[in-house]
Amino acid sequence: MNKRELEIRENVKRVKERIERAAYKANWEPSDITLVGVTKNFPAEDIEYAINAGIEIAGENRVQELLEKYEKVKPKQWHLIGHLQKNKAKYIVGKVKLIHSVDSKELVCEIDRQAKKNDVIQDILIQVNTSNESTKFGCSTDELDDILFCASEKANIRVRGLMTIAPLYVKEVTTMLHFDNTRKLYIDRKENKYDNINMEYLSMGMSADFEQAIYCGANMVRVGSAVFGQRNYK
Ligand SMILES: *Cc1c(COP(=O)(O)O)cnc(C)c1O
Repeated sequence: MNKRELEIRENVKRVKERIERAAYKANWEPSDITLVGVTKNFPAEDIEYAINAGIEIAGENRVQELLEKYEKVKPKQWHLIGHLQKNKAKYIVGKVKLIHSVDSKELVCEIDRQAKKNDVIQDILIQVNTSNESTKFGCSTDELDDILFCASEKANIRVRGLMTIAPLYVKEVTTMLHFDNTRKLYIDRKENKYDNINMEYLSMGMSADFEQAIYCGANMVRVGSAVFGQRNYK
């Protein structure tokens, strides 16, 4: 095993331990929490190491990068976690198990259209921007029900939950408030019972805040740098 593989193995172990501790503290079973290893900016080789260390889901931010790595490595699942432009939906529908970042009715329609063409049912999360600040993407709380209603009428889409990104560079209390508000939206919609919508996943928390997210009810966390190290953006 080379140095890089050992490093990734050690990091995966540590992240899993942190998830476990946070889960117990929040009265969850560790197995209730799904870990998405965020592989953006890291080579296919690193993803292979992470898979060997027990990462089952790889999350990519950009369609192009996902498609390149899709040909090279085979995690159990690929997830798209970053913003999706409507005209790129056709490249990934049916390839990724879950799209975390659906934030408009137009995108819902396009994904449904592509899924029909490919004869698949595409699982999606709706990305909400609960604090209406700093993060560019995600629908507002007001738009959420409109989007859910629209999705509930589409035969080739299955909404599996909600996703959010906490605002950057804020105090921990602000992060927690953001997560807590998102959990409330999630629980409300879970009880609301739209046709065709199964609220099962609440995707929130990244390297800097996944423990806080778990305390606030996240059952899917997206962790990049804590597994792979600092990213070099070119
Ligand atoms: C990059 C990214 C992450 C992971 O970020 P880290 O801080 O490296 O853990 C999670 N979610 C989304 C949407 C991202 O783009």
